[in-house]
Order: sequence, then structure tokens, then C-alpha cells
Amino acid sequence: GQCITHCPVGALRERDDTEKVWKAIEDKDKIVVAQVAPAVRTAWGEELGLAPEDAKVGKILDALKRMGVDYVFDTTFSADLTIMEEGTEFLKRFTSGELKERPMFTSCCPGWIRFIKSQFPHLVKQLSTAKSPQQMFGAAMKTYFAEKLGVEPEKIYTLSVMPCVAKKGEREMELYYEEYAGHDIDAVITTRELVRMIRSAHISPDTLEDIASDRPMQEGSGAGVIFGATGGVMEAALRSAYYLLKNENPEADAFKVVRSQGFQENDGVVEADFAIDDITVKTAVVSGLANTRALLEKIERGDVHYDFVEVMACPGGCVGGGGQPIHDGEELAFERGKNLYYLDKNADIRFSHENKDVLKMYEEYFEKPNSHKAHMLLHTDHIASMER
Ligand code: SF4
Repeated sequence: GQCITHCPVGALRERDDTEKVWKAIEDKDKIVVAQVAPAVRTAWGEELGLAPEDAKVGKILDALKRMGVDYVFDTTFSADLTIMEEGTEFLKRFTSGELKERPMFTSCCPGWIRFIKSQFPHLVKQLSTAKSPQQMFGAAMKTYFAEKLGVEPEKIYTLSVMPCVAKKGEREMELYYEEYAGHDIDAVITTRELVRMIRSAHISPDTLEDIASDRPMQEGSGAGVIFGATGGVMEAALRSAYYLLKNENPEADAFKVVRSQGFQENDGVVEADFAIDDITVKTAVVSGLANTRALLEKIERGDVHYDFVEVMACPGGCVGGGGQPIHDGEELAFERGKNLYYLDKNADIRFSHENKDVLKMYEEYFEKPNSHKAHMLLHTDHIASMER
């Protein structure tokens, strides 16, 4: 159905990974560690009859624990980590003059990565080298968290719950660090597969409790939550880039013009210039691959110039992803996106750089954004991965 047009890897039939996950849960030698992406919370309740305000992410975490998962986390934590890495990288590339001709592109959407590699290979070097939140979290679970538990990385089985079929392919790209020579992520299930697992475990949705995620990777900011909607990555990155430049926070909503509201107009492109002191950052946000192609052609012709461009393959961003229960168009994506902006508005912290658990992980493990260790574990070489 619609999935074929909306989902960038719709041509691949969705694989069912639930059996594989049940096996890992039963395996006494494995410690199963799960993460749940921001967009999943906006849609999992639709099929289980939960109202949007009842379908809290903590209830998904509770369901996973009841199914036998050992540790549960919210990908919002690593979305904040991604912002620390990608925001720092952007400022470095921007101030060095590297982006005078071509912008830096976001790199967290595997549908988009696949598209640029096959359709615009000469632009691949413009991608941020930051891994996606899914992959960064996997790397942190198998290193930092494994050390905390005092176990070898091989014992950790990383599971992610994603709104996205393309995330299964992202998992398989050889993104790993030689020290543990394994994949960052061992299994990806979609929101639909999660719902099937909840049903087959005979868990009644009404009995689920809104539990907190485990420590020490517990905190997540509102900026991390909006990653699930188009414009969210850009907005989160600008909030922190501003702080990095000025050493003070902007108004949390200072960059809200990049929000998803505009995705049905202007060929799906929302553009905005932001002046921070004497610096002007020219940004654009686009979702949907047809819109993306048109934008890239304009950039190629020199009709437009930007410094930083966010691209999401699914119209409306991950809230409208191909792994969500119902994916029949932009309107639903828009409604789900509103839910994420509501959560951001009411979040205790609105800035990725204020995530205390992320800062603690830097202090104890990664040193600082874009450090050598961060490069080894949290970044990837897109050009090398094209040759693999
Ligand atoms: Fe997956 Fe989100 Fe990209 Fe869609 S927009 S392909 S759901 S990462």
C-alpha cells in the first residue's frame, strides 16, 4: 500500500525480526538492552486502543521489561548525544569555510543516506559524519554501559524499536568499532512488530505502567524528543549551536520556524536564516524524497545556498515512518508531530547540552564532543561505507 511510496525501502518486504528477539531474550548468556525511538510513542497506542495522552513511552519500556528485556532506554538520550556531536561538527565545518559552496547535510535518516549514495554520490562528503541516534546508542551500550555492568561487549544484545523499516538496513551497515568487532545494534523491530510482541506476550495495555528508563543513560531533553518530526533535528542543533557560540541559551523556541508545519507547502522545503551575532546561518529542512531531489537539483544549479540542511526521507519525518502502524499520509504524521512538540514544550530540559547524563558520559568516557574516542565510536565514514 502506501508504504511502498512513503517508505524509502518499501521495495524490500518487511522482515519479521520478532522471533530473533524472543530467542535473544531466552538466551541466558545475553543481556538484552533496548532503546525506543521518539516517534514510536506517537503511534504504538493507535493499534492497541490507547489514547495519545495514555500511550506514554514509559509504558513501552514497561512492556519490554515484562517481555524479559533486561535494561530499557529512550533514544531521546542519544538524540541529545547526536546533537552534541553534530552541532560541534557543524560549527567546525562552518567556521573553517568548508560549507561555502555546499551545505552540511544531516545523517540520521538511513532512507536519505541510501538515496544520496545512489543518486548524488558526489555530495556524500557533505553529509555529517555523526552516526544516527540509534547507532550511537548501540555503540555506547556496548562500551560505556558494558563497562558499567562489568561485562564484555559481546554479552550485550542491543535491540531498538523504531518507526522505520530502513533502520534494519542501517543496523547492517558495518558500523562498529574494532575493539568489540560487532554491530552497534543487534536487532531492530518496527512499531508494528512491537505491537505484535505485546499481543503475543498477552500483555494487556491497560495494565502497563509509565516507568522511567534505566540509569545511567536516563535523561532526555525536549530537543531530543522532536527528532521524530521533520525540522526537529535542525531545531535541536540550532539551540545547541547558539549556546556553543555565545555561551548562553537562546529562547527555547527561538528556532521554531523550521517546524513541520510547513512541510506541505513550498515543495516540502522550509528555509530560514538565523543571525547569531555577526554570523548568519542559512538553513533548510526538507522531507520526502521527491522534494529532496528537487532541492538538491536547485543546490546543484546554484539557485539556492544553505549552510545546513536537514533531510528526512518520510514526509513529515519519522512520525510518518514506514514501520508505524498506520501510514496513510501526511496528516497523520502532522498530528503525531504535534504530540512531540507538546512533549518538548513541557519537558524539564529543552536543550541537548543540558542533558546531565550525556554530560556525565562525556566526563567519564568520551571526554568531549568530536574527541578521538567519539570519532571512533560515534562517527562513521560514509565514503568508505559506499565501497563496502
Ligand atoms: Fe526512517 Fe525516519 Fe528516515 Fe523515515 S524519516 S526512513 S522513519 S529515519
